[in-house]
Amino acid sequence: MEIKGIARETLHFILEASRSMAPLEFAGLLQEKDGVITEVLILPGTESSNKSAILRLYMLPNIKAAGSVHSHPGPNRSPSKADRRLFSKTGDCHIIAGFPYDKKSWTCYDRTGKVRKLPILDLEFEEEEEEEFF
Ligand code: ZN
Repeated sequence: MEIKGIARETLHFILEASRSMAPLEFAGLLQEKDGVITEVLILPGTESSNKSAILRLYMLPNIKAAGSVHSHPGPNRSPSKADRRLFSKTGDCHIIAGFPYDKKSWTCYDRTGKVRKLPILDLEFEEEEEEEFF
């Protein structure tokens, strides 16, 4: 399924989670619905472990997802070797969030580690009154 974009709320969630988890890494798998990323599956135990989240993500058997997301503790959002290895394994949409985790501090890569566009989409969620973060 071709990924058309990410729901604004999902991106909010990713940035908030990255911020609150720093300096620990936040990592999860992206789930899509009709080509739009609307959900993040967070790894159990991510918060408490000091092992690299991306490595534990990589070690999951049979990972299947639209892609992955993880945070870097600093402003550098370039994928590491381990990141690229994970990118090639599942999905075609891999988000890295970096310090300071605001609406501009994230980048999406394809399975080869090249920067790709990921439009932010405004979806209507049922009867949900959410505060606007941005
Ligand atoms: Zn990384």
